[in-house]
Amino acid sequence: MFDFLIVGAGFAGCVLAERIASKLNKSVLLIDGRGHIGGNAYDYYNEDGILVHKYGPHIFHTDNKRVFDYLSQFTKWRIFELRVTASVDGHKVPIPINLDTINELYGFNFNEKQLVEFFKGVAKEISPITNSEEIILSKVGEELYSKFFKYYTKKQWDLWPSELDASVCARIPIRTNRDNRYFSDKYQVMPKHGYTEMFKKMINHPNIHLMLQTDFLAIKEIIPYKYIIYTGPIDSFFNYKLGKLPYRSLRFSFQTLDQEYFQDTGIVNYPYEYDFTRITEFKHLTGQKHTKTTIAFEYPTAQGEPYYPIPQASNWNLYQKYQTEAEKIKNIWFIGRLGTYQYLNMDQAVAQALDFFENTLKKVK
Ligand code: FAD
Ligand code: UDP
Repeated sequence: MFDFLIVGAGFAGCVLAERIASKLNKSVLLIDGRGHIGGNAYDYYNEDGILVHKYGPHIFHTDNKRVFDYLSQFTKWRIFELRVTASVDGHKVPIPINLDTINELYGFNFNEKQLVEFFKGVAKEISPITNSEEIILSKVGEELYSKFFKYYTKKQWDLWPSELDASVCARIPIRTNRDNRYFSDKYQVMPKHGYTEMFKKMINHPNIHLMLQTDFLAIKEIIPYKYIIYTGPIDSFFNYKLGKLPYRSLRFSFQTLDQEYFQDTGIVNYPYEYDFTRITEFKHLTGQKHTKTTIAFEYPTAQGEPYYPIPQASNWNLYQKYQTEAEKIKNIWFIGRLGTYQYLNMDQAVAQALDFFENTLKKVK
C-alpha cells in the first residue's frame, strides 16, 4: 500500500513526490504515461548529441526567490537571458516591442520620451479591458497590434485575440527602453545540466517508486494507495462526463543542420508568415558547443497532446464544474497546469505545488 499515488512526473508531480518523501517520510508511487520524467520540460541529447527540449523551448524565469532556492537544491544554474526577435516587414526586430523595435521598423531615431509620446498617439482608449485585443490596442494601437499580435495569436490558438482573455497577450510587455530580454524576472537561468538531470535528483529518494509508461487507468484498480494527486487533465480523470475541456496542441518539427549556428538568437517569432509560429535553436538556450545545430519549428494544432489550457471564460466555467466534482471525492487532489486548467509557467507550477504541500498535504494524517 502506497501512501500517495502521484499521476504525472512533470514539475507538479516531481515537486510533490520530493516533498512528501523527504518531509513527511511517506511512500509515493509516481507514475507517468510517457517513457520519461520531467513532463513537458523534459530534455534529452538527440542522436547527434545535441541537448534539445522535446516539447518546445523551456526557459526558466522567476521573481520567486522561494522557488529559485527550492530548485537550487537539485541543480546548478547557467545564467541565460532569452532574447527573441520577430520577423516583421523584412526586419528582425526585438520582441517584446521596445525602443529599438520601433526605430528599426519605421526608420525613426526616437529616444525614450519620444517613444512614450508616439505610443500615446497611436494607443486606443479602452476601458475596461476585457480581452487580448483590447489590451494591446490600448498600449500600442492598431498597426503594431496587427504586425506583432493579431495573426501570431490566430496561428497559435486558432482564435482572434478578441476571443481570448487579456492575460494571454499581456504576457508580452511593451517597453519604451532598450531592454531586449523576453522576460523581466529577477532570476533568468537554465539548469546547468538540463531539466531531466534536475528532475532525476529531485525524485532520487528511497520513498519514491517511479513507474513510466504507466497510465493511471491501467493501475488504478490494481495498486493500492491512500491518496491520489492527479496532474493530468482534470476532464480525463472524470472520463469527460461534463464535456471536454479544450486544449491547444503543437507539432514540433526538428532539424539538425551541418552548420554551427542557424540564427542569431534562441528564438525567432514569425507573427504572420508561414504556418509555424517560431523557430528555436537549442544551443543558444543551453550554451552547448557543437559543430552541428538543432532547430525546432512549432506548428500549432487542435489535435495532439494537451499543451495549453485555453484562457476563456466558458472553459473556466466548465473547469469549475469538474473542480466541484473533485471536491466530492475525499482522497484526491488536482494540481499543475492540466489539473487546475491554468496557463502556468514552470515557476508558477512549482510555487503552486509548494503552497499545496504547505497548506494542505502537511495536515493530512
Ligand atoms: P506537465 O509538464 O504537463 O506534466 C504532466 C504529466 O502528467 C505529463 O508528463 C503527462 O504525461 C502525465 N499524465 C497526464 N495524464 C496522465 C495519466 N492519465 N496517466 C499517467 N500520466 C499522465 N514554462 C516556462 O516557465 N518557461 C518556458 O519557456 C515554457 N515554455 C513552454 C513551451 C511549451 C511549448 C509548453 C507546452 C509549455 C511551456 N512552459 C514554459 C510551461 C511548462 O511546460 C509548464 O509550466 C510545466 O510543464 C507544468 O508542469 P506540470 O507538472 O503541471 O505539467
Ligand atoms: N504573442 C504574439 N506575438 C508574439 C509573441 C506572443 O501575439 O510574437 C501572443 C500569443 O497570443 C501568445 C502569447 O502572446 O500565445 C503568449 O506568448 P508566449 O511567448 O508567452 O507563449 P508561450 O511561450 O507560452 O507559447
